[in-house]
Amino acid sequence: MEAHRIAAQSEEAFPNAVMSDMSESPVVVSACLTGESCRYDGQSKPHPFVQALAAQGHAVLVCPEVLGGLAVPRPPAGIKMLADDEINSQGSGEAMPMSGYEEMSDIGSDITLDMPPGSSAGQLVWSGRARLINRSGTDVTDAYKRGALCALAIARQAGAKCAILKQHSPSCGCGSTGGAEPWERIKGDGVTAALFKANGIAVISDEAL
Ligand code: SF4
Repeated sequence: MEAHRIAAQSEEAFPNAVMSDMSESPVVVSACLTGESCRYDGQSKPHPFVQALAAQGHAVLVCPEVLGGLAVPRPPAGIKMLADDEINSQGSGEAMPMSGYEEMSDIGSDITLDMPPGSSAGQLVWSGRARLINRSGTDVTDAYKRGALCALAIARQAGAKCAILKQHSPSCGCGSTGGAEPWERIKGDGVTAALFKANGIAVISDEAL
């Protein structure tokens, strides 16, 4: 089925601005939605609409976790909120959120990383009030942040204004993301979705298609 036909069928589920952007600029998509086997378990989550977009050359594929240096397969990870004393002991919540990412000069100097703490889990990671912990107990926050920044750089380079990202992922989730407990789902955006939104890229989840 052609992408424009699928788009027409999905029109009610899309914000109008996103629909109009899709016809004029490429759309960033979670690579696993196109059939790329980049998930933590080595599997993919193909979605016919996203696959049609990619087949017609309208999609820019990103997998933030792989971009951040994580392997396939890898232990699943999720977002863990920190208690106040944990924030202090880990030195999180510092005023220099770009610390450690200076080498990514191609991302631009106007990037917004200073997200105020809110209800979004991904925002809390960027503001230093939550961390990414994998099933082995390893803190993989830096890899998740690095991958999100790489994905944003790719989106900007492509001129993308909107993204279709995989729901429930601690990176890509939009409205529902992964918590650190096994199979836990928590309200809010993942690390990449939060970064995209803060930097002017509209995000919808595959489940909204
Ligand atoms: S949901 Fe996002 S981070 Fe996870 S495998 Fe898919 S593209 Fe990669």
